[in-house]
Amino acid sequence: MTMTDRVGPTGGRAAWIEPSARRVGILGGTFDPVHYGHLVIAEQVRDVLELDLVLFVPAALPPHKLDEDVTPAPDRVAMVELAIAGNPAFAVSHVELERAGPSYTTDTLSELSDEAVRQGVARDFYFILSTEALADLGGWHDPERLLALARLAVVPRPGAPLPDGAWLAAHLPGGAASAKRVICVDTLPLAHSASDVRARAAAGRSIRYLVPPAVEAYIRDRRLYLSNNPQRIA
Ligand code: ATP
Repeated sequence: MTMTDRVGPTGGRAAWIEPSARRVGILGGTFDPVHYGHLVIAEQVRDVLELDLVLFVPAALPPHKLDEDVTPAPDRVAMVELAIAGNPAFAVSHVELERAGPSYTTDTLSELSDEAVRQGVARDFYFILSTEALADLGGWHDPERLLALARLAVVPRPGAPLPDGAWLAAHLPGGAASAKRVICVDTLPLAHSASDVRARAAAGRSIRYLVPPAVEAYIRDRRLYLSNNPQRIA
């Protein structure tokens, strides 16, 4: 099944998801580039939570990365498409790329949820994020609405183990009520990070086994992450 079978140019409705997908995971990120850390959390959360679909949602302008170099969205999307090819439960969404301005997760979930209403489908959303990202949730745009629109599937990352209920109640915007919206999924912690992949590629070092072979080839062919690459946005 291809991406366009599930999400895509359906009359310009970027938030379209196949009506049969009832339990949907959302993995938002910069994906600069996508790596095996992303793929493993997406697959293991899909498995444990019995999701029908995991939607990878590349951010157009990540609000927390506005002042950094970010690879153009078409390259980041292309790499996600290459990485997820062959997994019928994975798809990439352009929903944030087709919206002007910064990418707020809450707006994305609103759009996806409105589309489910238009389809007449009762759909549960699970927003996947690591413990490290969860710690910053208070600084996100309208986090309480985010928690109303989706449950959080929280995964560990090396150095950021899964939180317990007391930590969640003390730190989440909305306290104990929000903590009930969190499901901790004990995925295999992998130390992969996009910044590490970029640094290795920039230094001419191997990124083999950090990203899928097709992504590795794309990075090499497009000379992404080399400091003299004109593709990068200054
Ligand atoms: P960077 O190194 O540039 O900050 P990143 O590797 O964290 O990038 P993002 O695209 O920003 O990649 O991540 C998207 C989401 O995936 C975030 O919730 C992030 O915490 C999570 N994530 C990324 N890598 C891992 C990993 N190795 N293990 C668990 N979660 C991860």
